[in-house]
Amino acid sequence: MVILAGEPVAQRLLDETQKAHDAFQKTTGRAACLAAIIVGDSPASVLYVRKKTEKANSLGIESRVFELSSLVRPYELKILIETLNEDPAIDAILVQRPTHIPDRDISLWIAPHKDVDGFHPLNAGNLALGNPCVTPCTPLGILAMLEHYKINLSSTCIVGRSPLVGKPLATLLTSHNATVTLCHSKTQNLKAVTQQADLVIVAVGHAHLLDRSFFKQDAYVIDVGINHKNGKLQGDVNHDGIEDVVAGISPVPGGVGPVTIAALMKNTVLCANLSTQFLRAQTASDISIFDE
Ligand code: NAD
Repeated sequence: MVILAGEPVAQRLLDETQKAHDAFQKTTGRAACLAAIIVGDSPASVLYVRKKTEKANSLGIESRVFELSSLVRPYELKILIETLNEDPAIDAILVQRPTHIPDRDISLWIAPHKDVDGFHPLNAGNLALGNPCVTPCTPLGILAMLEHYKINLSSTCIVGRSPLVGKPLATLLTSHNATVTLCHSKTQNLKAVTQQADLVIVAVGHAHLLDRSFFKQDAYVIDVGINHKNGKLQGDVNHDGIEDVVAGISPVPGGVGPVTIAALMKNTVLCANLSTQFLRAQTASDISIFDE
């Protein structure tokens, strides 16, 4: 069984991003800048944002962190995002999403060319139309993993249909010629569906929801889940005894996580280039940077 480790894939993405950022700096004379907004002081959110900004800084990308109270009102967050949208020194905006403000509102407030997570409806729509601009980081990272390990996509089952992972991943893989079955909490007899697939990608957010009995012999499994349980990180797949069944599985931790952060870096430099084009277009005429 192959362990589909995230590190080598992340390193490849980071090397490409470093080159792209060097080229950006050479043309513009400045570093790209990622703004990260944290709402509340949950240790997990603070840690995630710190990991992301440290990785950005290691590539020479600037970062600015904005810490807001967990009681922040929606309009206060909106005003901060709008200020950052207008600030030419900020290229990309990341919001560690609070639970009390709907994701769909936050997605609409961020300017599409600074939407480093790729959640704005314009970016989601472009992805759905097969013309991606800023693609959500986790799906982008998973695609890089599948390409790195040369995994066949012709029979793919994705478990989970969230707007962050499952849905955009299904769209992205379909445009890479995968035949995708998308399962979710209302899928009847999930096991019968996953057992048909050569590749199963699980993003449900329930520790160990699927075990070895869900997979066909020699299938590949990407375990996206990150669940904090008994002081440990656990995936959505129970890895016990899985080596007798599957041909390869991504570990938790050390699988999709580092690749997602590397994809975020790639998107930051993409946003920096888009923001530069946007500023130029604003001063020249009203050319849409999303038209190709
Ligand atoms: P979510 O809660 O938004 O969505 C979960 C999805 O799973 C839903 O579509 C739901 O229909 C489906 N689901 C729930 N129970 C199910 C069941 N019993 N059978 C079939 N489907 C079921 O979660 P999300 O944001 O997509 O995240 C999923 C997991 O991936 C979480 O553990 C999250 O922490 C993790 N995640 C990891 C990374 C990473 O970088 N590794 C990035 C994003 C999310």
